Amino acid sequence: MTLLDTAPIEKTALERYVAPNKPSLIGLSRAQLADALAALGVPERERKMRVQQLWHWIYVRGATSFDVMSSVSKELRAQFDAHYTLARPEVVAEQVSVDGTRKWLLRLPGEVEGERPHEVECVFIPDGERGTLCVSSQVGCTLNCSFCHTGTQRLVRNLIPGEIVGQVMVARDRLEDWAEPAEKVAHKRQITNIVMMGMGEPLYNLDNVRDALLIVADGDGIGISKRRITLSTSGVVPMIERAGKEIGCMLAVSLHAVRDDLRNELVPLNRKYPIAQLLDACRNYPGASNARRITFEYVMLKGVNDSIDDAKALVRLLKGIPAKINLIPFNPWPGTKYECSDWDQIEKFSEVVFNAGYASPVRTPRGRDILAACGQLKSATEKLSARERMALRAMAMTDE
Ligand code: SAH
Ligand code: SF4
Repeated sequence: MTLLDTAPIEKTALERYVAPNKPSLIGLSRAQLADALAALGVPERERKMRVQQLWHWIYVRGATSFDVMSSVSKELRAQFDAHYTLARPEVVAEQVSVDGTRKWLLRLPGEVEGERPHEVECVFIPDGERGTLCVSSQVGCTLNCSFCHTGTQRLVRNLIPGEIVGQVMVARDRLEDWAEPAEKVAHKRQITNIVMMGMGEPLYNLDNVRDALLIVADGDGIGISKRRITLSTSGVVPMIERAGKEIGCMLAVSLHAVRDDLRNELVPLNRKYPIAQLLDACRNYPGASNARRITFEYVMLKGVNDSIDDAKALVRLLKGIPAKINLIPFNPWPGTKYECSDWDQIEKFSEVVFNAGYASPVRTPRGRDILAACGQLKSATEKLSARERMALRAMAMTDE
């Protein structure tokens, strides 16, 4: 793998941050857009058509100003402009790697007025025909998994739909990935897959994540199909069924251990929702089938969860569930007590999993390269932020 050759981050002084003074239309559902039009005095009979126009300009063409909306009357454009914006989260910095991976640091308003702004990251990983965007659902995370860097972050708040959809919009802006005008629609898309694997626990922010993903999946707009959207959860059991019913995207579960005592330690949420309950929820996940498997993520921690017995127990545990297994090399961060399993051990572990009939969980060539990088190029990988490393791994798992 070509490691990221990161350009220095250009930091804008926090003091210069000015929160937007008008609401953005990004992230509003069709019904909410119709309400916004009603508030501007647009007659009811026109609203549906106007919503369609807006939707097209915003989510197909990626309009950043009302000016360009040539199919909308000048008066209405001026009215929109007086009351709303099409603002996305502010891009504070962009890092581009030699292998095409890009990371954006985004700035979002604090929850209360006057509070310091929040920051989240969003990462794009191109891989041949596929391009995966790793999206955040919260600023920080309340769940304190012992091997995860995000859990140590102090500030936590839920992202609103516009901030989640906004990450996809920013990525499309920066990658020039919007549809061209009608005569050139053959344009090949760069962002083909979305993984909710950035910061945060998406099922602790289900309503906003749902509203955002339904916009992202809308065929008349951004149009990334639900089969190409994966939501990763640490195991918020009571919300899993709702995620399946209300969003209907692919599910990934951060399992990481096969015994409750160890999982309690790695993923403390396990004390509330132990493995058996979690797997039951997976068995009942709406739409799960051999064609739409649930991905089980398993982070390889040296001497902690990486024995051959663990591997055997893992395949026993998942018997009967339409599953994929994704072995993740642990990505170290400053101050962590864990180490990534040795390459040899990961190979042995993956062999057990492979022999049990699971598609090769460590993908080649890039997946292997990532694993190699984990053990062999430590100093280089440490230059990556936790998010970038996670996104690289996320890329290895999406195969649609
Ligand atoms: N909160 C959700 C989604 C975000 S984390 C969840 O936990 O599933 C995305 C994935 O990255 C999870 O599988 C998580 O366990 C994994 N992860 C977190 N820290 C990691 C690290 N340091 N190395 C490797 N994977 C990590
Ligand atoms: Fe939160 Fe997921 Fe990190 Fe656990 S692994 S602390 S749930 S982001």
